[in-house]
Amino acid sequence: MLKDMVNIMSFIDQSLCTGCKTCLLFCPDDAIDYLDGKCKVDPKQCTLCGCCENSCPFGAIHPTTDLTDLQIFQQTFGDPRGSSVTGGNAGRGGREIKTLDVKPTLKPDYFSICLDMGRPGVGLYLRDAEKIITALMAAGMEFAEGDFPLATIIPDRTTGKFRPDCLDVHMHSLLTEGDFHKSKLPDILKALKEVSTEIDTVLCPGLILPVDGNIENEEVLSCFDDLGIPRPVRSKINVGLGKPYSPDLSRLPPL
Ligand code: SF4
Ligand code: SF4
Repeated sequence: MLKDMVNIMSFIDQSLCTGCKTCLLFCPDDAIDYLDGKCKVDPKQCTLCGCCENSCPFGAIHPTTDLTDLQIFQQTFGDPRGSSVTGGNAGRGGREIKTLDVKPTLKPDYFSICLDMGRPGVGLYLRDAEKIITALMAAGMEFAEGDFPLATIIPDRTTGKFRPDCLDVHMHSLLTEGDFHKSKLPDILKALKEVSTEIDTVLCPGLILPVDGNIENEEVLSCFDDLGIPRPVRSKINVGLGKPYSPDLSRLPPL
């Protein structure tokens, strides 16, 4: 039986596969190949999203088993059913940015940045994610203390360099967050602009800052102007429906 399995991830039992190609319609990462009347999973392209697992009318596709730590990492970010065991942290990101205004996680005079890399159907290789993270850390971004999924492949949190054995891993998408002193905003924007020309995927950065009643922050927006970056046209405001318990936020009126 094992010799009929293509790999140990999402595998297709070749003795059951009729070559009907139904599974091809379910794979968002073009990771299933049709060859000689059978379908096979390409382990280099598969992101372990699990979308194909229930697609086969003949029961030829089997669930993922015996995952390595890197495959668990892949599955954490790729499986929409929410398999998340990496770092013991549910979800894809590090912290819940919607609660930054009531948690003592963002230091005074610091902004936060959310990095959404890749997309289902576009994907990314971790070597591109490393380029983004290292460029931003060189520009002043810091990771928060504590565990978050991406930390499991970043042994050195001062440079953001990834584990060398993971650079060719293919992912659906990757999400992480970091903080930086607000004086570093021009450097962060410049780094984003430069690294966006060096990657073979899509990058959607989100700037997170306390608005404190000042929604049109000219000081911030002028940094975009200086670098020739169009001012953001989309924003989201979280009002923090909770009682602030950070001493740093004592200036805010009680809710
Ligand atoms: S859906 Fe099942 S039987 Fe059809 S090609 Fe895919 S694995 Fe083979
Ligand atoms: S697990 Fe996802 S990426 Fe891998 S073959 Fe199935 S649908 Fe494609």
